[in-house]
Amino acid sequence: MMAKQWARPATDALRADGLRIADLDTSGTPGFKGDKKAGRELLAERTQVLSDLQEKLYANGRSGDGRSVLLVLQGMDTAGKGGIVRHVIGSVDPQGVDHAAFGVPTPEEKRHHYLWRIRKQLPRGGQLGVFDRSHYEDVLVVRVHNLVPPKVWEPRYDEINAFERELVDEGTTLVKVAMFVSLDEQKRRLRERLERSDKYWKFNPNDIEERAYWPAYQEAYQVMLERTSTEHAPWYVLPADHKWYSRLAVTELLIDALERLKLDWPPAQFDVTEQLRLLERA
Ligand code: ADP
Repeated sequence: MMAKQWARPATDALRADGLRIADLDTSGTPGFKGDKKAGRELLAERTQVLSDLQEKLYANGRSGDGRSVLLVLQGMDTAGKGGIVRHVIGSVDPQGVDHAAFGVPTPEEKRHHYLWRIRKQLPRGGQLGVFDRSHYEDVLVVRVHNLVPPKVWEPRYDEINAFERELVDEGTTLVKVAMFVSLDEQKRRLRERLERSDKYWKFNPNDIEERAYWPAYQEAYQVMLERTSTEHAPWYVLPADHKWYSRLAVTELLIDALERLKLDWPPAQFDVTEQLRLLERA
């Protein structure tokens, strides 16, 4: 059985609890024993499982089930957030996906509380939501660059926990994934963006300057994990040097979240026998 190549489930192997990200081996494949070829083969199989589960979630949403799943992706530039959106989320039915990316706040967003723009993009019942960056930027980039003073960002950890508690109580399962590549791997990926014309569009000169802040980001990520990995919304720490592993691992995390909803196909809201009889006559 292919699935046996997970010595430990991803939900277990990637839990943030007690982890020091400074010590993280970003080229590791926690819990997975197989190589790239095995990983890719398994991913093809598991993608189908994910797609079927997501269709069930969507079908239930159409029948009034208010529950949803929200994937929150955080990671420095080049960590591979876009690849997860394209390859993992791209493999499910797009009508069931609510995708949102959060960049530098617009002037209008700046006039509001930092959760204002987040609340507007929460997934509706039956949807698989995906946040490419999130409210966590407000304790990451904001902290690293002193965009607001500590007395403003410090209370945000507790506030975010309370906000997420509310989401969970309303029926949203959060899957929070923090992706990490090594500084060397980031350099390699940035170089590729400068060497290939089909990658120029992904390059931002600012990404080079941000490399100087790597230790500050590591610190900010560490505190984020310690303060906001909760029982109701745990963080998963994903070593992301190997794209095949990142994609497989996120697929497994989403499958787990969806399976925990114990979804069935919604029952018919009509008399099936009667409708069949009418169809034959039509
Ligand atoms: P990407 O670089 O991921 O393709 P964008 O360039 O649109 O996407 O936006 C990402 C940038 O927005 C990142 O540098 C990120 O740190 C910044 N950003 C996101 N949220 C905030 C925030 N709340 N405050 C300041 N900067 C933010």
